[in-house]
Amino acid sequence: KDSSGRFVSRVFYSDLERLRMVREKEISDKMEQALKNREFVVYLQPKYELEHDSIAGAEALVRWDDPEKGMVFPGEFIPVLERNGYIVELDFYVFEEICRMLRRWIDSGEKPVPVSVNLSRAHLKHPDFMERFRRVWEKYNIPADLLEIELTETLVFENIEALISIIDQIHQIGFTCSLDDFGSGYSSLNMLKDVPVDVLKLDRAFFRGEISERGKRVVEGVIDLSKKLGMGTVAEGVEHIGQVEFLRKAHCDMVQGFVFSKPVSTAEFEKLIFGRESADKEP
Ligand code: C2E
Ligand code: MG
Ligand code: MG
Ligand code: MG
Repeated sequence: KDSSGRFVSRVFYSDLERLRMVREKEISDKMEQALKNREFVVYLQPKYELEHDSIAGAEALVRWDDPEKGMVFPGEFIPVLERNGYIVELDFYVFEEICRMLRRWIDSGEKPVPVSVNLSRAHLKHPDFMERFRRVWEKYNIPADLLEIELTETLVFENIEALISIIDQIHQIGFTCSLDDFGSGYSSLNMLKDVPVDVLKLDRAFFRGEISERGKRVVEGVIDLSKKLGMGTVAEGVEHIGQVEFLRKAHCDMVQGFVFSKPVSTAEFEKLIFGRESADKEP
């Protein structure tokens, strides 16, 4: 009954807040079951190599096929899982699913492309987690260069020594290592001197909307710098064909974005790279 909007907006805010907490608890409560029931589904988004105009890799992106709510995107459940620690188990699950899939590709005689998986910062709490990745990988006997680990700047920000040790371990096994979302947050160019990753993934913030002349010079500069440091480049979140042509001229190695393909199911991805249903046929 208060005439001031402030009261109303406070009620509105606390309702939203309550909804958010209810949903968070709901997700937390269902996680263990969801992992057991294998409700998490790994999608693949193609990475296009500009030089050869072909799909030269993919990123594994997880979705939750909640039996009650349907497909849930990572933005909704990953922050919750990072708070309750389940993200660590989910990352191992995704990694093993990818190893299993690569083994299937190899066994069917298809030529596999490298696949990257994302690593949450929650792993920093378990210093020996790369050993666990190594054990899973050994079980499937996959060439190490088919696997890529994506680390984010947030990891860098929190503990640079721990991050460098993780990169060392990744390289010892032989996996490729990329820096995700570069240029999105509090990234500093300075950190690039300490972080010997193989690939830089330019954040989609660079490509949101029409890219300005000034924006183009920044992107060209980052790509040149990557080359000088011996790193490959992937432009993320590219939605417009004009941007692809600009990136080609700037010698960006790969493009990953809706302009070519959204993340798709593994079956759809196999159709894209191996042709119709060839991955499922009997050897
Ligand atoms: P990311 O690793 O930066 O992945 C790229 C995100 O950008 C994906 O969102 C992808 O669908 C989206 N994207 C790709 N191209 C375009 C485009 O052209 N336009 C727009 N608007 N978006 C595009 P998604 O699948 O919702 O994943 C969001 C984030 O969730 C990922 O960002 C990653 O940080 C995290 N994530 C996903 N799967 C996993 C996982 O298995 N483990 C961990 N730890 N994190 C994951
Ligand atoms: Mg990523
Ligand atoms: Mg990214
Ligand atoms: Mg991200």
